[in-house]
Amino acid sequence: MESSSGKPSLGEFELIDRYFARRANGPAPRGDVIVGIGDDAAVLRVPPNADLVAAVDTLVEGRHFPAGSDPRSIGHRSLAVNLSDLAAMGATPAWATLALTIPAADAEWLEGFSSGLLRLAADHDVTLVGGDMTAGPLTVSVQILGFVDRGGALRRGGAAAGDLLAVTGTLGDAGAGLALRMGRMSTANRAAADELIRRFEYPAPRVAFGATARGVASAAIDISDGLAGDLPKLAAASGLAAAVDVAKLPLSAAMRSVVPESEAREFALAAGDDYELLLAVPPERFDELAAAAHQLNLTLTAIGELRPGNGVMWSMHGVFYAPAVRGYDHFR
Ligand code: ADP
Ligand code: MG
Repeated sequence: MESSSGKPSLGEFELIDRYFARRANGPAPRGDVIVGIGDDAAVLRVPPNADLVAAVDTLVEGRHFPAGSDPRSIGHRSLAVNLSDLAAMGATPAWATLALTIPAADAEWLEGFSSGLLRLAADHDVTLVGGDMTAGPLTVSVQILGFVDRGGALRRGGAAAGDLLAVTGTLGDAGAGLALRMGRMSTANRAAADELIRRFEYPAPRVAFGATARGVASAAIDISDGLAGDLPKLAAASGLAAAVDVAKLPLSAAMRSVVPESEAREFALAAGDDYELLLAVPPERFDELAAAAHQLNLTLTAIGELRPGNGVMWSMHGVFYAPAVRGYDHFR
């Protein structure tokens, strides 16, 4: 076993085979995977009349998840963040590749990690079709590929003045969960804490809703950097100003039970780890979109609107509101 390439010297190929290749296809392999794991590259058949949609996201230990996190959660999140990007485009995910850098070939860790990743993949009918494995500081890159009807992708820039701004689910839960997990915050309400931590460790990307919203919503973005970080991106891409009433931000019962409302609002503005969607929707189509969300056991909450101009105006019950924190920016 050589290690000059920087790869784990202990059974790299056996590990790939055991934890990824043999498990990747699951009980019902996709018919559009012509060549999956095992050759020099994957060969995938794109349906006619579809556009290919691609995204990649990297999770670094100590930055995107605490050191010592449950490997099952790391596996889940590394795919979930990518699924969320496709959801925001209204695309249907199909295939994924994985570039995995791990400090050591730890079988127990790989077992948990691959279970978390491949379980979520199976839930979304996504097949892992290739990857790479290297020794080094724990870093996980997942690339996702999927389709959308030709020309039909949901973009950040499609909104019109007068469109309502709406968000799925509740905001800030995962941020509060992370704070609890890191011991920066505590509560006597164990059930609520567990629920919030679960929202951080096992986010549910809104893939089915994203596909439904395509053709109804005028613009969408996934909230990966917090509402305060991502709303300006949608507004700028659409060439509009946004006005949001922070009193309308949807807060979960679990969140309300562990922090005062003012703090909950700040989590809802700053934390992006829930991977909810922010959408712009023509007012006359809001009810239709809310009903579609309801069908998927999801709430859709109107929080404001788009207007001519630029920038974001935050208010609470008509009074100017200054968010304490901006969205997350790695280089600031
Ligand atoms: P190459 O050196 O030609 O890139 P590798 O030896 O790195 O090939 O990988 C062999 C096969 O296993 C390839 O099909 C590759 O896509 C796949 N693979 C490698 N690592 C992973 C992984 N972590 N997850 C899934 N597939 C992997
Ligand atoms: Mg390789």
